[in-house]
Amino acid sequence: MPVLSHLHQLFDAEQCQTYIHTLRWKDRPLQCPRCQSHHIGQWGMYQYRPGCKRYWCHSCKRTFNDLTDTLLHRSQRSLAYWILATFLLCLACSSRRIARELGIHIRTSYRWCWWLRNAALSYEMERQVEGTVEADDLYHTAGNKGQAKQGGKKALGRRARGRRKKREPGRGHYDKDRPAIIAWVSRQGAVVIQATKDFTVKTVQKAADIAVRTGSRLYTDSASSYRALRGYYHEYVNHTQKEYARGEVHENRAECLFSILKPYLRVFRGLSKTNLPGYVGFFQFLRNFRQLNAFEQAELILQAALDPAIAGRAKKGEFVKCFDHFNLLQTAIN
Ligand SMILES: [Zn+2]
Repeated sequence: MPVLSHLHQLFDAEQCQTYIHTLRWKDRPLQCPRCQSHHIGQWGMYQYRPGCKRYWCHSCKRTFNDLTDTLLHRSQRSLAYWILATFLLCLACSSRRIARELGIHIRTSYRWCWWLRNAALSYEMERQVEGTVEADDLYHTAGNKGQAKQGGKKALGRRARGRRKKREPGRGHYDKDRPAIIAWVSRQGAVVIQATKDFTVKTVQKAADIAVRTGSRLYTDSASSYRALRGYYHEYVNHTQKEYARGEVHENRAECLFSILKPYLRVFRGLSKTNLPGYVGFFQFLRNFRQLNAFEQAELILQAALDPAIAGRAKKGEFVKCFDHFNLLQTAIN
């Protein structure tokens, strides 16, 4: 039998609390999360949460602590759980895996992952690529996994279809459970990835308007939707004629990005159309901060999660809505 089953049992509660305290107030003035007043005094400590400081707001005459109104507020679990969960999320673990490694219920870890992913997306809201940009498209099977209305397990009444293996090569469509994913990769470093319903001229134009700064240089393959794009200096290679690079003109970075995205999405063992934009957006976050190691990325997410303004919106899933190009592009076109 193992001596210890969960890594976070080795974490020191007080040290975690000090770390979170630093992250919470590092770039922000000590401020009441309820009335935004700066007129704050100390108000002792908690016995059951070693190291957690309590403050008194002189304006609204109420107390608050380091966690008030953040994503971690009112959590039954200690900070060690949260820190490890965020770290595992950045290592591309599924919520099931995180539940197992932390020793928490799957629904808890699913909710945490959803919140933390939303917090991460707050860094990607204004992302736009420029300079020399490569683009490519991919079609990924995504159905209605876990979207049963009443929640919980739903008996399928049949064997799993294994559709991913049966797919013919070629284009897909949202209504056929095979939405498109378009990647815009700047040679200067940044990437933007969008999951879209289809790959028509209109959709791709709208997607490009959002993702790529006008006037950028664009290299793609010979798909007609790219050729119809307006507002960019566009050149393409013709894959059907076995032309994959012509001097500067190629889209190998975009293809390479997909070779990393595919195994990332495989971890989830099938995904739903509802969650696909969130997963793709989170992958974009990981990719754009790829110079950092997984814990530094986790620290960024925790710092966002500790901001009351971001935490409130993250819980409601507002950030992921800005990545839901299924709906966004459709509304933009109509
Ligand atoms: Zn106050």
